[in-house]
Amino acid sequence: MDFDYDDQNIFAKILRGEIPNDTVFENAHALAFRDIRPQAPVHVLVIPKGPYVSLDHFARDASAEEQAGFFAAVAAVCEGEGVEGGFRAISNARADGVQEVPHFHLHIMGGRSMGPMLAN
Ligand code: AMP
Repeated sequence: MDFDYDDQNIFAKILRGEIPNDTVFENAHALAFRDIRPQAPVHVLVIPKGPYVSLDHFARDASAEEQAGFFAAVAAVCEGEGVEGGFRAISNARADGVQEVPHFHLHIMGGRSMGPMLAN
């Protein structure tokens, strides 16, 4: 599969510093920031700094260092956000996944019961 990365997407602009964000954690390979339309008391997006469209693109093509850096950021967010009670991690991909922003991101949501996995 070809993954065609659009460097004008809003998260690419955040990574270039063209749009502000509410950063909660950053390392060499990943940035974590608060979702602008939070759907739970904790709603953080973790994104790689590299140009990956979706989870399957990142899993296939990102280096071991990039993948380790990304998951280190996930761990830091979970620890820092106080989601000892649990959380939900979601990554939407392409049309069927109803992905809005074409730069891979993991939603980390918690701070309340997240309810059934799918509403429909
Ligand atoms: P999706 O691509 O459907 O998985 O979701 C994209 C998410 O990005 C949505 O939850 C939006 O609220 C969020 N979002 C869009 N623009 C921004 C922004 N400038 N800062 C933070 N979150 C954003």
